[in-house]
Amino acid sequence: MAVNIWRVPLSDLQFGDKENQAVLNVLHSRWLTMGTITSEFELRFAEEINSKHAVAVTNATAALHLACLSLGIGEGDEVILPSLSFVATANAVLYCGATVRFADIIGSEELTISPQSIEDSITPRTKAIIVMHYAGFPCRMNEILEIASRHRLVVIEDSAHAPGAALNGQSLGTWGDIGCFSFFSNKNLVTGEGGMLVTNQDDLAERARLLRSHAMTSLTLDRHLGHAFSYDVVDLGYNYRIDEMRSALGLVGLEQLDKNNARREFITRTYWRAFSDSRLGLPFKESAFEKNQSCAYHIFPILLPSNISRDGFMHHLRENGIQTSIHYPPIHKFSFYQNRFKDISMPITERVASHQVTLPLFSSMNDEQLDFVINSVGEALEESII
Ligand SMILES: *Cc1c(COP(=O)(O)O)cnc(C)c1O
Repeated sequence: MAVNIWRVPLSDLQFGDKENQAVLNVLHSRWLTMGTITSEFELRFAEEINSKHAVAVTNATAALHLACLSLGIGEGDEVILPSLSFVATANAVLYCGATVRFADIIGSEELTISPQSIEDSITPRTKAIIVMHYAGFPCRMNEILEIASRHRLVVIEDSAHAPGAALNGQSLGTWGDIGCFSFFSNKNLVTGEGGMLVTNQDDLAERARLLRSHAMTSLTLDRHLGHAFSYDVVDLGYNYRIDEMRSALGLVGLEQLDKNNARREFITRTYWRAFSDSRLGLPFKESAFEKNQSCAYHIFPILLPSNISRDGFMHHLRENGIQTSIHYPPIHKFSFYQNRFKDISMPITERVASHQVTLPLFSSMNDEQLDFVINSVGEALEESII
């Protein structure tokens, strides 16, 4: 069944013979759960981003949860993170019994967590900072790591948007203590569900590996290969394992990551050029050019001027078969969080989030689709003036 009803969807996949063959090879091998293909995927991913360890898991939410657990985050601890992110960033902290402290973003030109707001949110209970590289653009890691070391805090990078991105030549995800990547269906590297935890610290990797599979001292594969007959359970672990079909897709995706990210960059720069004389706010446009960055261009955010109705704008594009989205409704505004975190004011996040729209961006988006979106955005703006 074709599920794509859009002329230009928000994101799309381009799978072909390589992906089909990779999955078929796994099926024919008759070993479907975490095994040698997964080990190879971990090895290649670690090489790609120059990290000492990579631990493949079932999704990035699981990676974030394991990151918090491995770093000893628990009851009584506070973790600072941006409210302008996907809810998983905050949920992972609550899973551990710790508390969230939401921080604001820098501004409408840079939608990542503000170092000043981090500094303002620190209390004696603060244990960690989770940063999120919005759209694959780097957070201000030098300033953030300086704050972290001054206050003895650990740093987790939610790098769900950022596979293949780097800051000053160093891959995102390897700046903090642990980095977490997502391979969900709309991300830059896709396995369907899937995620990766990366770290340069041996003890953290060992703990994440243990907790990924019920803290069992031997794996099913070890027993199958005759390396072990039984096992002990040495902690409260989880089943966060990935399977071999997904890891096989991940290996193919890794080969194409640079090429796909380059196409995403081209589309982003074409959008920026086309909209440079419009009244649209274009986050990251200046920062990306000025700093020594290589970005992952995961999504394309715009900020509407205040005389434009966002509903009207998105509605007009939908009528043209163009799918748009909002990244993100601030986490502290969701009912679940609002009830637990009262009296929070996050002025920049709230202002940006209320004007933000995400336009289609995916590596297989063709030039005709790109032109069509650009022209339609011009029309939609004219038709949704309040
Ligand atoms: C997609 C995403 C996640 C969660 O990833 P899953 O693999 O779906 O669990 C976490 N954080 C951010 C910023 C994301 O975009």
